[in-house]
Amino acid sequence: MEVTFLGTSSAVPSKMRNHTSIALRIPGEVFLFDCGEGTQRQMALAGISPIKVTRIFITHLHGDHILGIPGMIQSMGFRGREEPLELYGPPGTLEVYESMMKVGYFSLDFEIQVNEITEGVVVEEDEYLVSCARGSHSVTNLAYCFQEKKRPRFLREKAIALGLKPGPDFGRLHRGIPVRVGDRVIMPEEVLGEPRRGVKICYSGDTRPCESIVKLARGADLLIHESTFEAGKKDKAAESGHSTAAEAARVARDAEVRRLILTHLSTRYRRSEVLEEAAREIFPETVVAEDLMTLEVNAVEPHDDG
Ligand SMILES: [Zn+2]
Ligand SMILES: [Zn+2]
Repeated sequence: MEVTFLGTSSAVPSKMRNHTSIALRIPGEVFLFDCGEGTQRQMALAGISPIKVTRIFITHLHGDHILGIPGMIQSMGFRGREEPLELYGPPGTLEVYESMMKVGYFSLDFEIQVNEITEGVVVEEDEYLVSCARGSHSVTNLAYCFQEKKRPRFLREKAIALGLKPGPDFGRLHRGIPVRVGDRVIMPEEVLGEPRRGVKICYSGDTRPCESIVKLARGADLLIHESTFEAGKKDKAAESGHSTAAEAARVARDAEVRRLILTHLSTRYRRSEVLEEAAREIFPETVVAEDLMTLEVNAVEPHDDG
């Protein structure tokens, strides 16, 4: 799966950094995490179709994270979208959404479901889970975690040895359904290997470093954490409800994630290397996000036998 940074600025955009939005591409779907102003234009540059967006997850209701929603929805209407769209956000999202739907004249032929959420699992499908936890910002902020579910490996040779033929029965057993061969019933556990780990990706939204995010991100393949300020601006970060690069790095270290990406950068930092270096002293696997940067994210499987 792929993560694309559509915008990486904090409250004010710059020539090089658009307002915040992150696209997650999984098979058959695109999720957006936040949707700052101009996100649809960034998607065009990244080659991601807004029609494929099935869910938008909003961390909080500050303008730099939501003002791209009305324009994007109106464009979806122009393109004749019919598929429903799910919108998730903290309490207050419905009221903000209703105001956005009064901006200008337009018509929509698709359904938009608004889900106000607080914490815990917010989406569960056969292939993945999305959960959220409270961060610590000047307004309610939700950090999100996407976790892929992976079925155990299917032991093909063993299945054949038990008299099964490759085909639909393999799929049934892999999904946990017993299958009859002659007068014998084959149970799924006879042909399934060790459970496998799926990809885990966590995104902080705007926040002070906090324990709830360390917990949510535990062992993630990728943590995307805000880093509005450099280390010398610790007091400024604290009073505005944001994090420094070093603070974000400590969250990554404490959560034992594999990689850290810093985003939501103040436009005052023209040289993002300063933030990157400060974070790497604490957590070496750190990169500062740039607009339109795309990463492929895979889970490490220590006992992968192919
Ligand atoms: Zn922000
Ligand atoms: Zn904010």
